[in-house]
Amino acid sequence: MRVSLTVLRRPAAIGFPSCALTLWGIGSPSEASAEETSSWVRSESPIVRSAIALARERSATFRQLMESIDATDGLIYIVEGQCPRGVGACLHLSVGIAGPCRLLRIIVNPRWSPGCGMVQSIAHELQHAWEALADRNVRTSTGLYRLFERIGPTGSGTFETRDALKMGAIVARETCGKS
Ligand SMILES: [Zn+2]
Repeated sequence: MRVSLTVLRRPAAIGFPSCALTLWGIGSPSEASAEETSSWVRSESPIVRSAIALARERSATFRQLMESIDATDGLIYIVEGQCPRGVGACLHLSVGIAGPCRLLRIIVNPRWSPGCGMVQSIAHELQHAWEALADRNVRTSTGLYRLFERIGPTGSGTFETRDALKMGAIVARETCGKS
């Protein structure tokens, strides 16, 4: 099983309890599934898994993002589904707590984001997940909502951050060669 000892570029990630070790210390994930996503970012969806595998292979920026997430106490499940307000992908505004871990959920709609659009959407939403996980005080849905109200208000009841827009664009370019 992989133990994340990566040198961290983001100080906020230092000092988190080892979430994945706690949850999977007994029944560790298979090598294959650990390769395709990671212990901390998980999906049952073949479309999502292959988009993540491709981005990990081709995008250094995406690998850094995954390492930063892996060093937190967060577990992120990416599921196929419908987001509110007719968007193709979103971070669900809820936080689950399981032992020392915070659980977040990202929803993607493959019909809205096929191909490299899926890579872009996943990178974008994982950046939002990172934004939440970097703040250790975000432990409830209300806390998550307030965080985005603070860092990403759009004035129309939705949230957005420049970092997420940038992350999606950079990872899509590095993975798919889009400008
Ligand atoms: Zn966003």
